[in-house]
Amino acid sequence: MGPDAAALRGELRELVAEHVPPGYLGAFTDDPADLETAQKFCRLLAERGLLCPAWPREYGGRDASIWEQTVVREEMWAHHEPRGAQYMGVNWVGPTIMRHGTAEQRNAHLPPIARGEVIWCQGFSEPDAGSDLAALRTSARRDGDEWVISGQKVWTSYATMAQWCFLLARTGRRERRQQGLTIFLVPMDAPGVEVRPIDTLMGPHHLNEVFFDDVRVGAGAVLGEAGDGWTVVQEVLSFERVGIARYARCERLLQDAPRVLGDAWDALPAELRVRWARMLTHCRRARLLAYRVIATQQEGRVRPNDAAAYRIAVTRLDQESADVLAEIAEYTGTDDSAEAAWFRLEVEDHRRYSHASTVASGSIDVQRILLARALLAAS
Ligand SMILES: Cc1cc2nc3c(=O)[nH]c(=O)nc-3n(C[C@H](O)[C@H](O)[C@H](O)COP(=O)(O)OP(=O)(O)OC[C@H]3O[C@@H](n4cnc5c(N)ncnc54)[C@H](O)[C@@H]3O)c2cc1C
Repeated sequence: MGPDAAALRGELRELVAEHVPPGYLGAFTDDPADLETAQKFCRLLAERGLLCPAWPREYGGRDASIWEQTVVREEMWAHHEPRGAQYMGVNWVGPTIMRHGTAEQRNAHLPPIARGEVIWCQGFSEPDAGSDLAALRTSARRDGDEWVISGQKVWTSYATMAQWCFLLARTGRRERRQQGLTIFLVPMDAPGVEVRPIDTLMGPHHLNEVFFDDVRVGAGAVLGEAGDGWTVVQEVLSFERVGIARYARCERLLQDAPRVLGDAWDALPAELRVRWARMLTHCRRARLLAYRVIATQQEGRVRPNDAAAYRIAVTRLDQESADVLAEIAEYTGTDDSAEAAWFRLEVEDHRRYSHASTVASGSIDVQRILLARALLAAS
């Protein structure tokens, strides 16, 4: 992590303590103040060069190491992600536009992300295309200098608040279904875009359906080569999978538990304390698997198998630690202090998300297949 990581962690924790109000459980609640907190916090990080530290200066970063960016990501996830939905722009939208965008696209899109001003959503999944993403039906056809997009996306996180959509659509039929797909950068206020929220366990403002009814975009909306979107998507998913440092949240909650329980900690069954300790070991494992992916990214490479290994580890950690934490939280049952009540709320929030974690960012079964294939091919 380098010598400055601890100081950076300290700085970030101070900023969170000072600028994120008590009781903040993320930006996607019914209270608009939570979204406002996230927007303000992003701008604050941006002003201090902490939103995209590892980006080049010309795009609003400060050429810091990718490990500093990792510290930021960990501290944000550990504290209920006060960047709100903007973590996506920093984690994968920006880096992908940096790698595949034209100079015009880089200049148009990267500085607003680095300033914390813009929210992106990801339009990949469809009602009949999730794990089998290449089955997608949303299409884009050429009409003179423009493209006309029609179709439906589903499970689109943050679409109600996003200004831009990173959309995958079919632009041609080829021998392999993975060919003939194209990435479009689509403004969400374009005529013909309609968003319908889906209520879920994770709160009312997370998931959505997005409909595209003959939405017109110019040729400059295509990211990379038309028809070559699949290559870009593989990179996006690898960046995305490692960009969510859920292990940092698990670790903080696990470490908070003995302090919150105080004397009651000694009353926990020995078996539960053993599982608690095991979860801390699993946190370390997930962290190291994430670092392996980050180290290859630093060399400019992307290895989807490593990202899959991390995703499997962190998803299992999410769910197993949620169970252990929920059992531990029961032992605070008679404690009505603010600290105990907050711990119970945090654990409940963690547990609700963990149910979705086997599917979000790609189903874990499919990750296992991907990893097994890679290992068998290598043996
Ligand atoms: C919280 C959350 C946020 C999301 N955000 C977004 C977003 O912003 N943008 C976006 O585009 N999508 C998003 N998604 C959608 C997500 O990417 C898909 O749900 C995921 O890829 C699985 O696709 P599916 O829902 O169609 O399920 P399916 O692919 O139909 O899978 C259903 C079940 O079958 C299993 N399965 C499928 N294929 C196989 C196989 N070959 N072998 C064994 N088992 C298999 C799966 O593991 C799963 O258990 C989000 C999902 C969640 C839960």
